[in-house]
Amino acid sequence: MFAACPTCGRYSEDRAIDPVGPYAIYPHCGGAHPFRQSSGDAFVERMVALNAWLCDHAATTNPPMTLLDTTNQSVEATVAAVRAWIGHRLGGDALGALATHSGLAR
Ligand SMILES: [Zn+2]
Repeated sequence: MFAACPTCGRYSEDRAIDPVGPYAIYPHCGGAHPFRQSSGDAFVERMVALNAWLCDHAATTNPPMTLLDTTNQSVEATVAAVRAWIGHRLGGDALGALATHSGLAR
C-alpha cells in the first residue's frame, strides 16, 4: 500500500516499523508516521456506527453520497461500477480523456 510521507510528501510503499512508537519509518528521508491503532474493539464499534450512519444518511447529505457495497463483489465488478458512476456524472468519455491525459491505459 502506498502512503504519503508526512515529512516530505513523497509516496512510498517501503516503510520500516519502529515498534517503540509505533511508527512507520520512510527510508528515503527518515520521516516517521505514527501508526493508527485500528485493531481494538472501540475502533471497530466506531466504524460499525459510521457505516450504519452512512447507510441511513448517504442519500440526504449535500451532495448526496452514492454507496457501493463491495462485500461480495469482484474487483472487476467494483471497477465497472465506479467507471459507470464517474461516466454518469462526468458524461461522455470522461474516463477515456482522463486515461489519455494521464498516460494510463484504458
Ligand atoms: Zn519523506
